[in-house]
Amino acid sequence: MPLIQVALATPLRRLFDYWPVAGEPLPAVGVRVKVPFGNRQMIGLVMGQVAASDLPNNRIKAALAYLDTKPLFTQHHLDFLRWVASYYHQPMGEVLQAALPALLRQGQNLHPPQEPRWELTELGKTTPLSELQRAPRQANLLKLLQTSAQPKTQKALQAEGYSLAMLQALQTKNLIALQKLATKTQGIGLPQLPLDEHLPKSVLAEVPLTLTAEQQQVMQILTKKLGTFSPALLQGVTGSGKTEIYLQLIQQLLEAGQQVLVLIPEIGLTPQTLKRFEQRFNRRVVSMHSAMTDKERLDAWRSAMQGRAAVVLGTRSAIFTPLPKLGLIIVDEEHDTSFKQQDGLRYQARDLAVLRAKQENIPILLGSATPALETLVKAKDGAYLWLHLRQRPAQGVKVPEPKLLDIRNRKLFGGFSEPLLLAMDKHLKADNQVLVLLNRRGFAPVLMCTGCGWIAGCLHCDSRMTWHKEPPKLHCHHCDQQQPLPTSCPQCVDGELKPLGVGTERAEEVLLERYPDIPVIRLDRDSVRNRNDLAAKLEQIARQRPAILLGTQMLAKGHHFPDVTLATLLNADHGLYSSDPRAMERTAQLIIQVAGRAGREEKPGEVIIQTHHSDDPRLEKLCIEGYEALALDLLDERQKTNWPPYAYLAMFRAEAPKTEQVDALMRLLAGQANALNQEHLTLLGPVPAPMERRQGRYHMQFLLHAKKRAPLHRLVAQLLSWLEKSPEARRVRWSLDIDPEDLF
Ligand code: ADP
Ligand code: ZN
Ligand code: ZN
Repeated sequence: MPLIQVALATPLRRLFDYWPVAGEPLPAVGVRVKVPFGNRQMIGLVMGQVAASDLPNNRIKAALAYLDTKPLFTQHHLDFLRWVASYYHQPMGEVLQAALPALLRQGQNLHPPQEPRWELTELGKTTPLSELQRAPRQANLLKLLQTSAQPKTQKALQAEGYSLAMLQALQTKNLIALQKLATKTQGIGLPQLPLDEHLPKSVLAEVPLTLTAEQQQVMQILTKKLGTFSPALLQGVTGSGKTEIYLQLIQQLLEAGQQVLVLIPEIGLTPQTLKRFEQRFNRRVVSMHSAMTDKERLDAWRSAMQGRAAVVLGTRSAIFTPLPKLGLIIVDEEHDTSFKQQDGLRYQARDLAVLRAKQENIPILLGSATPALETLVKAKDGAYLWLHLRQRPAQGVKVPEPKLLDIRNRKLFGGFSEPLLLAMDKHLKADNQVLVLLNRRGFAPVLMCTGCGWIAGCLHCDSRMTWHKEPPKLHCHHCDQQQPLPTSCPQCVDGELKPLGVGTERAEEVLLERYPDIPVIRLDRDSVRNRNDLAAKLEQIARQRPAILLGTQMLAKGHHFPDVTLATLLNADHGLYSSDPRAMERTAQLIIQVAGRAGREEKPGEVIIQTHHSDDPRLEKLCIEGYEALALDLLDERQKTNWPPYAYLAMFRAEAPKTEQVDALMRLLAGQANALNQEHLTLLGPVPAPMERRQGRYHMQFLLHAKKRAPLHRLVAQLLSWLEKSPEARRVRWSLDIDPEDLF
């Protein structure tokens, strides 16, 4: 008898062998199975069969039950998931963790439980109504069931005025019974996708915009590429009409009966995007994001895998959605850091999107005003089509050029310089909105004693506690520790406690004082906790003019604020002199995103960037020549210094309550790496992580750097085999990050 191979969500990078369930036909690959594992039961996925196991027969256990009659994934999609597991050196079970909705992982049926229906018994079918003369209501009920084509649910019958007692009375007389339901749901039946017969013929629910000449050109090129693998970068300034291109391209696919996957950074923050897609099409658009309930996610997943959802609009994990009729993938804001998963299976959804498009032989469109250097290099080298949208569709609307405002030796009022405030006065007086971006929440990032220099630090991390005013507390943003605000300095007792630096709460205070009659609408994680908060704030923004919109990144992403004419970044300096090779790229992207918020309609915009380094040549280049010019320079720099995208990286990280434990393991790992390193990879470390102590644990990292991918992955695989056997590794929490993005 063959054995079945099962993928289970365990840290072990292998499949597990089981005897098939006794008395049942062998399961298809892609069916869920319940198996004993240690002293518990787990749900896994059947990945294949083998004739014999490495284990002795008496150690092999039997699978308990199959949960599906048909596979949840096509062979094709499983190949994709297998590739993901092997590229990221992760167990298949871990990939399934990301690819399967939680309810399916927990063993729930793919289909929602059906409500049982009442049907006539043989006796009930032939009994004349006259026999129920003494109970006219019961007779009516019997009549209803005798004349209706289908059995009816209890809910439907109750809605027509029949009580449970009446149903039970007929049941006792053996006239009606509850229908028996199949205990196991039918699988999905991938080959015969149910078509929604009620769909209107026309795909379009509204008339699309007439494309500008520039958009038309792009559209023509993209249309020719449908049906084959062809990656394209659509580089277009914010508001240049990229989304309109997506919509019109999607329209063509929907007309051909295909499905489209659209990845976007943070759906919860951009309800407008979803609305725009829903408004355009007479087809089902489903969204997938982290704020969904498990049930909502399962529903969306099911309609995608059954081919009923025409468009799936989702955040990074939507890349794993099975889509049998997939014809196009779009990644919007493809440079956004949220496409990289930072724990567990550390995948980059944009990279996986390109891979999936290749496997499916379909086009992929990457859109951004500020493409990632990884994408830009492919466009530059001709591996990707490189398409531009340089203008905004509305006549005469120019994308404003950011202006650097030197704040060296200037007095700052809660982060605002005098010239900035004067500019704000002007825009507010003209009844417009001003957008202020400040990437720090709380009142102040540091609380300091002016008497003795004491600083409120976190007990568990090498970090400072952020001072929050509302509610008043000290809060560590790295480990979430919170403490009451001290009333006096814990060190010298009589020194004065003062804020150092500016967070959004403090900026708000300053603005309210200066502009008592103008609403200040704050958007950050403290003031916007859920979709309702966000909807309320967006509604307020749409209504109030003049107004000041103040917030963190949340404010710079994807929104359309037609009344903003001045956009400002309070401080551009964070990324300028960081040791992280990506810092400048990120700063440039942020500045351009901020600039993109200003002057979107008929009104001309202004963009002011405060900095202590206004003579930095990179900042100057960005402001005068634009993102692409700077990005190409940064690419040159990366090439000279041998960093990605001109090199490949893998990072091992480890953490434990004691430094010695982490240190011991990382030294052994580095020793192994050095001994095995026959292909002359550069090995960096081990070194303490940028924040060595975090949440009461010590963190270290070890970076592998290679000119080519293959030797890097070979060494990684060898090191993983070693780690899995090493007793030291069992005492330490360690992880592997392929293509890490946060290095220092
Ligand atoms: P992006 O996705 O590049 O930010 P959008 O597609 O959202 O740009 O377009 C920005 C604004 O311009 C939107 O209000 C949109 O309705 C409008 N727009 C886009 N294309 C056209 C067009 N061809 N004609 C008129 N308005 C357009
Ligand atoms: Zn003090
Ligand atoms: Zn902390």
